Amino acid sequence: MIDAKPRTAIALLGDDGRVDPARFAALAGVEEVVPLTRPYRMVAREWRPEPTVITLPRGLTVGGTEVLVIAGPCSVETETQIRATAALVKRAGAVALRAGAFKPRTSPYAFQGLGKEGLSLLKAVREETGLLIVTEALDEAGLDLVAEVADIVQIGARNMQNSALLKRAGRAGKPVLLKRGLTASVTDLLLAAEYVLSEGNPDVMLCERGIRGLDGSSRTFFDVNAIASVKSLSHLPILADPSHGTGRRELVPAAARAGIAAGADGLLIEVHVNPEEALSDGVQSLYPEQFGLLMQELRGIASAIGRTIAERT
Ligand code: PEP
Ligand code: MN
Repeated sequence: MIDAKPRTAIALLGDDGRVDPARFAALAGVEEVVPLTRPYRMVAREWRPEPTVITLPRGLTVGGTEVLVIAGPCSVETETQIRATAALVKRAGAVALRAGAFKPRTSPYAFQGLGKEGLSLLKAVREETGLLIVTEALDEAGLDLVAEVADIVQIGARNMQNSALLKRAGRAGKPVLLKRGLTASVTDLLLAAEYVLSEGNPDVMLCERGIRGLDGSSRTFFDVNAIASVKSLSHLPILADPSHGTGRRELVPAAARAGIAAGADGLLIEVHVNPEEALSDGVQSLYPEQFGLLMQELRGIASAIGRTIAERT
């Protein structure tokens, strides 16, 4: 049975093994001495046994019973494109719009995003639709710009181990969505989150977005195990990104359903009003009607495991 009484946890940072736990166990008022054996501390379940529930604007939360669906195009491309895509994801029931203004592309010749202009468009769409805005920061200076507009600041896979950026995100005053690096272990991901928490920001949601695959049948290997692993190792919410997790539109619905079934606290899904014309990640972006259908299926899966898909309030 879980003890519902409040407990005070005192952490000893920097313990290198020279401190004998028995000395603390003998003190009055000490119920239990728990060795922090993992390389990370504040993100660990041992540090905080109950799940972190992050409060978001408009009465939304992530990490509780509600599953947050965040959807949108890979990039903000034009005013027409972002407004139309925002309207369609809202109609289908998503509560947050995700689109990149600053894009981390593999090739320097690929579309790099609209930058500040993209942020202004997202700001306008936020006001117009009431959708929460999730968008990526690529560097420290950009993080402050992004944090002015975004409800959730994304740190992408390529920047997962950018410690300067993580520290800045720890002081951003906004929830952070931290994506797993392309070759990062779950421990690496948790240590990256530790940087953000250790700078004073407890509002971090992690994201499984696929790691390098082996067989070439999909762009990446969507690691469902990681969702369950993070849940047992950490109190932080974990989202699933079946779009980058598979890299192919036809695989996205199955991976999205699996993500929810495995316990993900939310999904990040790429949807485009016209995927054929997308300037980035069109191949993995769902068609509008596909996304509508998927949302219906997700409601069923969430309810089968005692959860609900977050609705607009
Ligand atoms: C994205 O979210 O569009 C993106 C570039 O993701 P990742 O950092 O996971 O590659
Ligand atoms: Mn993308």
